[in-house]
This record gives sequence, structure tokens and C-alpha cells, in this order.
Amino acid sequence: MKTASTVAALRKARARLKGTLGFVPTMGALHEGHLTLMRRSVRENGHTVASIFVNPRQFGPSEDLAKYPRTLKEDLKLCREAGVDLVFTPDADVMYPDGFDTFVEVERLSRPLCGEFRPGHFRGVATVVCKLFNIVQPSRAYFGQKDAQQVLVLARMVEDLNMPLKVVTCPTVREKDGLAMSSRNRYLSPSERERALVISRILAEVKRQFDKGERDVGHLVSIMESALGAEMDEVQYAEIRRLADLTEFPGPIDAPALAAVAGYVGTTRLIDNVTLTPSRGRNA
Ligand code: AMP
Repeated sequence: MKTASTVAALRKARARLKGTLGFVPTMGALHEGHLTLMRRSVRENGHTVASIFVNPRQFGPSEDLAKYPRTLKEDLKLCREAGVDLVFTPDADVMYPDGFDTFVEVERLSRPLCGEFRPGHFRGVATVVCKLFNIVQPSRAYFGQKDAQQVLVLARMVEDLNMPLKVVTCPTVREKDGLAMSSRNRYLSPSERERALVISRILAEVKRQFDKGERDVGHLVSIMESALGAEMDEVQYAEIRRLADLTEFPGPIDAPALAAVAGYVGTTRLIDNVTLTPSRGRNA
């Protein structure tokens, strides 16, 4: 496995990788969620490139950029074990040299949910991923459903800007007890971790009720809000929106939906979601 920390070095190493190329962008502090994406890319492509870059442009001024976990040595070992061929590990000044002045904004999809609480976040994500795509030139790029809004934003960017690659969405990887894996989970104390379980528990309950035929957004949201409010220190949102474009349902759920949650347990911001898809022939 090779590593490169400049654009020129990455391009040179990438040019030697012939055939289909899978790409897995990450911010490091790798866990089984990231590794599942990497292994799938390795299976589906001739070669795989990963990137490890904590992108300052997607963090707000009061967010956890400085304390975001950085475990590069261990990460590289895990990439190697997953079968990655090349890892891009740029510093911030490689990605944003003096004079940097161009941004990518996916307007409507970036507004609701996390966009409301993290102004500029998806602009930072779209900009860095656009740059990474231009540098790496992958055939396929792999993202987790855990960050459902992110993958919608990026798929829209790829479509709108005619980028010649396929966005592949991979299911959320969870701990045995349901907690969605996240680099931020390591901040949780044992008692906070216990309280954080409310998120996956209530999302599973919403899915159960939906599968039994419940279609009332207000009812499902109120179930989420009361359970989350009892355990979390701040609930930023608990919403159900159309999966296709994140718009709201004016009436009952009549199309594939996303139930999504964000908020704080202690000082750790957690997000999670489930998709609600009407099964054909039942309650349709
Ligand atoms: P991050 O390092 O948090 O920016 O995540 C890098 C990629 O890994 C993104 O596409 C995430 O959606 C994905 N990812 C993070 N956590 C999980 C998880 N628990 N399951 C599946 N994918 C994940």
C-alpha cells in the first residue's frame, strides 16, 4: 500500500492503477463502518484509493475540529488490512492553499436537517469531495447511509456537475447493541453511551410501527421526540422527510421516507437515521 500527501504524488501513484478505481473518502479515526466501505470497494473494483483528511471547511467555528480524533498510524494499518492500494493524506494547506476561493454548493438538499444546525457544513463537504474526485478520478465512490443527507447532497453534485463516476451508498454499520458506529463514539462515557442507545432504539421502533402500517408523520415524530428528550441532552431534530429529496410530507407518508435524528449526548453530537419504505401490496 502506498501513501501520498501531495496532489502531485497522489496523481503519480494513481496513474499506475489501471482498470476500475473505487474511492473511499474519510476523516480517519477508522472503525468498522469505514472498513466495510473499503472492503466493498476492494471487492467491486480493480484498485481502491482511500483518503484521510479532517476537512476544516466542514466544521463550524464552535465545532469539534481541534479535538476531532486523529489516529493516522492505526488508520493506515487498517487500510492496508482492508486491501486499499493507495491512501491520500493531505494537510489542510495542500487542499486549501493561499488564495483558495472556489466552493460547491448543493442548494436545496443542504438546507434542512443537519444543514439548519451546521451552516456551511455541506458546502464544505461538497467542495472537498469535488476536489478529491478531481484529484483521485475514481470510477466509483463509496459513502455510508449513516450520513444520509451527505450522500444525497453528493449524489446530486455528481449528477448536476456531470462527474463521470458512480456514487455507491452502503448500509449503516452498527454495534451489536444498535449504536451506529461513529468516530465520535469514542468521546462517550459509559453512561453517555448507554443513553445514546435511545437513538437507534427509537428509530427501530419507528420502523416497526411504519411496517405495521403507521403513516402519520406527527405521531411517529412525537414518539421520537419524547423518547429522545428523556435521554439526550439536546435534540436538534427528529424528522421524517421524503427520501428522494428531503422535502416534508404534507399528509400521510406515501413515498419512501427517511426518519432522521441529530443531537447531543453530553458534548458529543450524534446522528442516525432509518429508511421507511412501503412494502409493495401492504398498506400501500
Ligand atoms: P467520516 O470519516 O465520518 O467522514 O466518514 C467517512 C465515510 O464513512 C462516510 O461516507 C460515512 O458515511 C461512512 N461511515 C461512517 N460511519 C459509518 C457507519 N457506521 N456505517 C456506514 N458508513 C459509515
